[in-house]
Amino acid sequence: MYRDKTKVIHIGDRVIGGGNPILIQSMTNTKTNDVAATVAQIRRLAKAGCDIVRCTVPDLEAAKAIAQIKAQLADISIPLVADIHFDYKMAVAAIEYGADKIRINPGNIGSKEKVAEVVRAARERSVPIRVGVNSGSLEKELIERYHGVTAEGIVESALDKVHIIEDLDYDNLVISIKSSDVMMCVKAHELLADKTQYPLHVGITEAGTVTSGNIKSAAGLGIILYQGIGDTIRVSLTGDPVEEIKSAKLILRTLGLRTGGIEVVSCPTCGRTNIDLIGLANQVETMVQDYALDIKVAVMGCAVNGPGEAKEADLGIAGGIGEGLLIKKGEIVKKVPEGALLDTLKYELDHWK
Ligand code: SF4
Repeated sequence: MYRDKTKVIHIGDRVIGGGNPILIQSMTNTKTNDVAATVAQIRRLAKAGCDIVRCTVPDLEAAKAIAQIKAQLADISIPLVADIHFDYKMAVAAIEYGADKIRINPGNIGSKEKVAEVVRAARERSVPIRVGVNSGSLEKELIERYHGVTAEGIVESALDKVHIIEDLDYDNLVISIKSSDVMMCVKAHELLADKTQYPLHVGITEAGTVTSGNIKSAAGLGIILYQGIGDTIRVSLTGDPVEEIKSAKLILRTLGLRTGGIEVVSCPTCGRTNIDLIGLANQVETMVQDYALDIKVAVMGCAVNGPGEAKEADLGIAGGIGEGLLIKKGEIVKKVPEGALLDTLKYELDHWK
């Protein structure tokens, strides 16, 4: 179902579905029971723009840590999702210790009685359950019936799990289906969106290291989100989870699905570039992350084409020989020595009206 019609689900004090803004998620890679490290990482994620964070809960220590982590993060109130594999008792414990949502695959939780225990705990506290299925754990029977791992099989598997929980009269659900095969993932989302009203958590799983993961995620999420499918996203990268947030924001922004934050455009450099534009563009990109302004900043390599190309930006710099031009709304304002370009831009951002 298209995102403006999906069911509204509350996760802590955030909402997804029903046309609400698409929320960005990530997952900590600290040991969850290392409360100090996990809290520190969640703070970094939240500062970068993470809306919902997931922590793995492999044992009771991790479940208990959820309560401490939440208490220490009370000032930023970011919803915490407990990621559960296999042991239903961890799901129940995570809920009792305050998880705002749990992610399970009912298929690997075991008997219906065990799933029922999880649902009972979730119902008691109105905690949503994300039913997560990924292509790597598709049932043998579905692989045989569909002659391999297919989008159809993934969707059927996910809906089977959803029905198990619906049969327990619980519909506070979010669904995720994942595959590292980008086009299979796209097809599966298209099929699933036609068959369910629950919000979809969208991501390309095991996408890879920062470069390949970003490209696969941008391509896959781009196609899925552009069709109006997907209520919350995670970009999975083998790297610092903060990178996932930066990428997710950029993908949403590029698709016009999120506003806010400074967009940096920069030229690819060429033989006309006579300043360290690559270094400068990277410094600018890092610097602007601390600003809540909703503007476009251009970082261009030369004074021949730079000002023209920077016209569409609110603020820009164009390099010369050892110096650069400051450009505001397409007008050249002044010349600045190369070494002072970054500070000049910072001054303008600090005083932007
Ligand atoms: S803005 Fe100037 S330096 Fe950058 S690519 Fe264009 S011509 Fe080359």
